[in-house]
Amino acid sequence: MNRARTPLIAGNWKMHHGGASGAELAAAVQRIAAQLRGVECVVAPPFTALAAVAQTVAEIAEQTGHASIGVAAQNFYPEEKGAFTGEVSASMLADAGCNWVIVGHSERRQLFGETDAFVAKKAKVALEARLHPIVCVGETLEERGAGATLEVVLRQLRAATDALVAGKGAAVVAYEPVWAIGTGKNATPADAQEVHAAIRKELSARDAGLAERTRILYGGSVKADNAASLLGQPDVDGALVGGASLDVAAFGAILRAAAELASRPTSA
Ligand code: PEP
Repeated sequence: MNRARTPLIAGNWKMHHGGASGAELAAAVQRIAAQLRGVECVVAPPFTALAAVAQTVAEIAEQTGHASIGVAAQNFYPEEKGAFTGEVSASMLADAGCNWVIVGHSERRQLFGETDAFVAKKAKVALEARLHPIVCVGETLEERGAGATLEVVLRQLRAATDALVAGKGAAVVAYEPVWAIGTGKNATPADAQEVHAAIRKELSARDAGLAERTRILYGGSVKADNAASLLGQPDVDGALVGGASLDVAAFGAILRAAAELASRPTSA
């Protein structure tokens, strides 16, 4: 973690908590986040809970006088409107109270055939709709085994670099090794740092200032007990958390770990 960048902890709820339980979980997270300084928090519920979650966290923020946590969608379709049955546009997400959106999650790439070019288009359209995209990149186990981790991650990143540059720091990158998602096997802090540093170096070739501003999250089996060591790496600026974001105690512990690291003096 580098204190020049505010750490961001984002919870990807995937296909969980689509109803009233989503608003309850978000309310609990908002209350924890309100007690912490120096860390930004975002939750990403399913579409059907977005409006209720956005309203709930805004109400609690107003009552308590603390900033609201961010609300992210997990996906959208990069057209304004039209005959796209089953899809939702970026402006519809903004209308529902979202200010963030995840794009290019490996489950979208693998299960729904999303390509690098499509993910890049989504990042661009999200920014145009004033949503902060969380652009996910990451290699499979086979790719890592073949020594192709950086090649794959940087290829995915390069496709979205124009959008990241246009976003001037409003977009976030999430490095999520596919083999670490939902498996309980996180990358070691050193492995995560190596890939994060390569991502920042690649961004810096386009725009050094942007590279310094852009937050790069790690995702893949982040839990309460490994968060501090991952977040302690110089180029790890936060976490994209799946399973553990469904458990208030675990997610709260990850938020606290980030706040604790952010509060340490620079020389520590
Ligand atoms: C994710 O889905 O983005 C993720 C990182 O999941 P988990 O934390 O469960 O590995």
